[in-house]
Amino acid sequence: MTNAIELQNYVAGRWTRGDDGGQPAVSAVTGRPVSTAGAAGVDYAAMLMHARGVGGPALRALSFPERAKRVKGLGLELLRRKEELYALSAHTGATRRDGWIDIEGGAGTLLSLASKAKRELPDGTTILEGSLERLSKSGAFVGQHVYTSKHGVALHINAFNFPVWGMMEKLATALLAGMPVITKPAPQSAYVAEAAFRILVESELLPEGAIQLLVGLPGDLMADLTSQDLVSFTGSAATAAALKSHPNVVAKSIRFVAEQDSINASVLGPDATPDQPEYELFIDEVVREMTTKAGQKCTAIRRILVPEALLDTVESSLSAKLAAVTVGDPAAEGVRMGSLVSAAQRERTIASVQELMAETRFAYGDLALVDPAGAGARPDAFLAPILLRCDAPGEADGVHRTEAFGPVATLMPYASPADAVTLCNRADGALVVSLFTHDPALAREFTLGVAPFHGRVLVSDRHCARESTGHGSPLPVLTHGGPGRAGGGEELGGIRGVLHYMQRTAIQGSPQMLTQITGRWQAGAVAEDHPVHPFRLRYDELEIGHTFRSKERTISLEDIEHFAAFTGDKFYAHTDEEAAAANPFFPGRVAHGYLILSFAAGLFVDPEPGPVLANYGLERLRFLAPVSPGDAIQVRLTVEGKKPRKSEYGEVTWDVEVTRQDGDVVATYALLTMNAT
Ligand code: NAP
Repeated sequence: MTNAIELQNYVAGRWTRGDDGGQPAVSAVTGRPVSTAGAAGVDYAAMLMHARGVGGPALRALSFPERAKRVKGLGLELLRRKEELYALSAHTGATRRDGWIDIEGGAGTLLSLASKAKRELPDGTTILEGSLERLSKSGAFVGQHVYTSKHGVALHINAFNFPVWGMMEKLATALLAGMPVITKPAPQSAYVAEAAFRILVESELLPEGAIQLLVGLPGDLMADLTSQDLVSFTGSAATAAALKSHPNVVAKSIRFVAEQDSINASVLGPDATPDQPEYELFIDEVVREMTTKAGQKCTAIRRILVPEALLDTVESSLSAKLAAVTVGDPAAEGVRMGSLVSAAQRERTIASVQELMAETRFAYGDLALVDPAGAGARPDAFLAPILLRCDAPGEADGVHRTEAFGPVATLMPYASPADAVTLCNRADGALVVSLFTHDPALAREFTLGVAPFHGRVLVSDRHCARESTGHGSPLPVLTHGGPGRAGGGEELGGIRGVLHYMQRTAIQGSPQMLTQITGRWQAGAVAEDHPVHPFRLRYDELEIGHTFRSKERTISLEDIEHFAAFTGDKFYAHTDEEAAAANPFFPGRVAHGYLILSFAAGLFVDPEPGPVLANYGLERLRFLAPVSPGDAIQVRLTVEGKKPRKSEYGEVTWDVEVTRQDGDVVATYALLTMNAT
């Protein structure tokens, strides 16, 4: 790279440079300039107004399926142009594999969350939580928890180590929730983040104002935020503490999600001796975690806990593996680990190692300058892996608190499983802990002991290791975050992540009002009989509340006996009068629940080929009262909700109620069908 790229901010639909020259960033590998970035003079207040006034309304006008389609499009576009990002990512000292986690991991997170949103969120702009709460005797007064998009802007502040993934994992959930975003990458790798952001803008998939970018700090970002805004921060505990205690954030109770540093541990179970497969799995995982991204991962293993008797053995196994790691220019042949992001980061890591030295000694490696592999590589930002050893971790403090954000971890012994739990929990809240064991009793004791102090627990053994995503990988469908020191935040976790950007409100009123407000038919609301059987109506013609009421059908003893013989279900309650009568639930022999369901289908199904393409399943099924021989049943079928799937069909949820001749409800359930559009 000859000329440094002048990074630009994306402000109210326009690319603009900062007024000053901006901060320079140099290649961590060669030391040559890569970019300059600044946001001095950027009109931050105008960005906030643009997001709130233009981006927010435009996003909120889109339904969840429409938002999901766009988020998926963004993921595909990033993948299509990924090589542009790999080229830049190499300057951060990242190997191709490190880049893959960041770049394809970022695109994959967009795709995964878009697909989950498409399958799990309704066709609308609100999300209902839980079921209707009956608040009065007759059911005329009910309550429902409803999520709506917040009306502010999501301010995303990111750490340097995952410029693409860090930006995308936050963007995906915010955009799906209908909230516009201002994103601020960290300066060390802002050139990768800006390129990724540019790809999103150039895709033209998002409405105006949905996303804006700051490549520097134009001033105090917290001062003008309102209670409808939200901050999602990733970085060090110190920066998080300063930002979340900002007087404006405190005064307005601004939602603040923090993902901070974390002193994660990995534990070798006492059963995982060197002759067991779990031993090798553990050694490989520790080395992978120490060297991936040169240890610059919030989830990396910082503490390695092993049974006292295995301390020396593990030390030699790890040292042998670490000795085989070639450090150098990621582009050079055979290089397994690249550099830290900058010379300054190397200095910071060394300072942390020096702090740790008060309680540890070098077991492998040291602080000497590395001669990196690769012709053009300069040593400034390189650090070889360092394994420290602490023989008395119970009396130590710094090893449980100091994060050396580089290829550094401390090996330590534990005396018993309970001791291992205590030591893990000394980090006072961490993102992840892993245990390598094939002993289920130990796995249970350990997991339940550490779970309250951790966001994620990985139990690895011979059965899952091959397919395991490993200790260090946050996944789009599982919550990422940890209590206490780790920030107390939660990101990702499928739809949970989307809900962080929405407000939950308890709405009270009549079932009819709640049906109108939520767009989902609620039991007790008007159920209007439609002149045409709803199975004859196409997806687009069906309306919430459309109802079909069947004729009655009397169930005879012969029906029950026939069903028992035909299906083989001869449970005594259907076949033995005396035994059935002795059962506290039944007056005597009764119809099978499945018979009631089958007869109900026979009563409501319209048989000719038509818009209903398939029965997709049942939900919430409950059998509430027995049906005796001679009883007559009747079915009410009401359109409860609709969700588009593909252009040719959509999913319809039907509220089904089966009643007896005396009016008692016999069964209730939700029936799902796929209906042609
Ligand atoms: P950092 O120094 O705390 O910076 C994080 C971000 O905060 C940067 O974008 C930084 O930008 C910004 N920032 C700092 N002061 C600010 C202010 N007054 N107003 C607005 N923004 C401000 O952290 P880092 O060195 O980039 O990242 C490394 C740390 O992040 C490690 O400790 C690691 O464990 C942690 N991390 C945690 C997670 C997680 O998910 N838990 C993930 C990745 C990294 P400027 O430098 O421009 O101010």
